[in-house]
Amino acid sequence: MSDPVVDESCETILLSSAMPPHAQLVATGIDKAYRKGDHQVPVLRGVDISIDRGEFLSIVGQSGSGKSTLLHLMGLLDAPDLGEVLLDGQRIDDLPARTRDQIRNRVFGFVFQFYHLMPELTLVENVVLPLMIRHSIWSYWKNCRSHIDRAKQLIDRVGLSHRLTHKPSELSGGEMQRAAIARALVSQPQILLADEPTGNLDEKTGREIMDLLKRLNTEEQLSIVMVTHDAQLAREATRTVRLTAGRVEALAGAA
Ligand code: ADP
Ligand code: MG
Repeated sequence: MSDPVVDESCETILLSSAMPPHAQLVATGIDKAYRKGDHQVPVLRGVDISIDRGEFLSIVGQSGSGKSTLLHLMGLLDAPDLGEVLLDGQRIDDLPARTRDQIRNRVFGFVFQFYHLMPELTLVENVVLPLMIRHSIWSYWKNCRSHIDRAKQLIDRVGLSHRLTHKPSELSGGEMQRAAIARALVSQPQILLADEPTGNLDEKTGREIMDLLKRLNTEEQLSIVMVTHDAQLAREATRTVRLTAGRVEALAGAA
């Protein structure tokens, strides 16, 4: 018998939006430690965190408190030592590696502090890249026009249509982060996981990136989990939690 989550197209997971409302993504009882020499250094100790569909959750905490570690576990970039990650009520962290890869690529979009764009590719090539990787060469070329149109639409959405053929070195920091956001959205993720997306930007540019994320959240009901050390930006999310001493504590959310 096949596991209901393990199917070729992840259809079961994508269709589960028809299920009764409950938290979209849950990480529960999460422990994570890293090996340092002979010892294990605990980072997360019994973390419980969840995000509802369409929510904008921010996670704050001191440097080294485990924010990136937690975000990576929520997005299946890493595995917890203990605990479970559930998507629409189904456990996903213990699935076979190939299924976890499929879920990661189809359900989550990632944005990082340092953009991670490919320096030798143009903006539009960077944005379309996840679709090239996801499809076979034949299938990609067959639908090449629609993939590129989709990339261009997103580039327009993030306000960069005048920069299509620019290389990352010809873009400003804010433009590179917009490009990274367009790339994260090209696979039509359900949940955007953003790790310090404004951490490398000046205040005004960071503010613009935050406004873009807020628009994507409210206008497209994109669920967002954002890690930040900027308490003021964090307060603009619909809900904020603090990671401290390996646990999550709730903070007041903005209206
Ligand atoms: P934050 O994002 O809040 O700054 P991190 O999740 O990056 O915190 O790191 C939490 C702790 O785990 C830090 O002490 C860091 O040095 C350690 N750590 C993170 N990743 C690794 C790793 N791959 N190997 C060993 N230690 C790590
Ligand atoms: Mg970090």
